[in-house]
Amino acid sequence: MDISVVIPLYNEEESLPELTEWIERVMDANGFSYEIIFVNDGSSDRSLDVIKRLAARNAAIHTVSFSRNYGKSPALDTGFRRAKGDVVITMDADLQDSPDEIPELYRMITEEDYDLVSGWKKKRYDPLSKTIPTKLFNATVRKVSGIKNLHDFNCGLKAYRNAVVKHIEVYGDMHRYIPYLAKNAGYKKIGEKVVHHQARKYGTTKFGLDRFVNGYLDLGLLWFQSKFGIKPLHIFGLLGSLMFLIGFVAVVTVLVMKIVSMNSDTFHFYLTKSVYFYLSLVFMVLGVQFFCTGFIGEMITRNSPERNNYLIAEEF
Ligand code: UDP
Ligand code: MG
Repeated sequence: MDISVVIPLYNEEESLPELTEWIERVMDANGFSYEIIFVNDGSSDRSLDVIKRLAARNAAIHTVSFSRNYGKSPALDTGFRRAKGDVVITMDADLQDSPDEIPELYRMITEEDYDLVSGWKKKRYDPLSKTIPTKLFNATVRKVSGIKNLHDFNCGLKAYRNAVVKHIEVYGDMHRYIPYLAKNAGYKKIGEKVVHHQARKYGTTKFGLDRFVNGYLDLGLLWFQSKFGIKPLHIFGLLGSLMFLIGFVAVVTVLVMKIVSMNSDTFHFYLTKSVYFYLSLVFMVLGVQFFCTGFIGEMITRNSPERNNYLIAEEF
């Protein structure tokens, strides 16, 4: 099979018939063998009925329906587990992404050898309250992830080589960082294609401004995982030891000063009035805590069933 189109959807009943017909048209015109995987993310409208009607007349439509709303990432991940096509294309269900991009995306993966091609909504039809923070967001992700050639990490329209989607796990809200996940999994040939974007025709956006707060927290987590995920002691141990050492030297210094002052008539030093005394104690306590955090982290990663899962490129 050439292409699997994975479509997560949450309350998109109005868009679905138009979207499906459009995809079918593009696939037939290009002679692709394909499947459409709808992942209904606990819609409370009539989306599921609409999909059932559509599926009744096209055997290429496969549907997974969650019993409640889990979010876009779980929906994508579920679709990825089931995708059988050589190239997997993800697309939003709201008609903001155009199925006309599919043939070129397919070509970039199969002929230009990309592992992942991300859409770039160069000209966006979204409100300003979304486009400006998005620019800032993308600049940060470029910096942190080291994927310098992407302008639009969170574009719903993306294409993947099948192996890529089988080796990444998209959970929580991590769909914003799929290129970063792919890079961490060892897939480095990541490209971009300018895609057409349309204003939302039906329904409303499912994400509010909290996307930016959560987005940055997730980014911090991913960065930490990619740097120290399998060796947390390296960072916590270093920080902890350093702090403990500083605290220890400071404590010894104030103690020496105390002893000197006890044997002197002119030099008076009161331990409990010295701010350094308290600071050094805090440093020592925090240092030990950091160290223990790293140690516990290390014990946990040692027990992870994934700890020896390496992505092997070739074996002779
Ligand atoms: N979506 C989903 N589960 C959710 C939220 C969104 O499956 O909990 C789907 C939604 O139906 C759409 C896609 O994810 O197909 C992108 O959502 P939306 O268009 O609201 O995001 P925006 O374009 O505003 O970034
Ligand atoms: Mg949208």
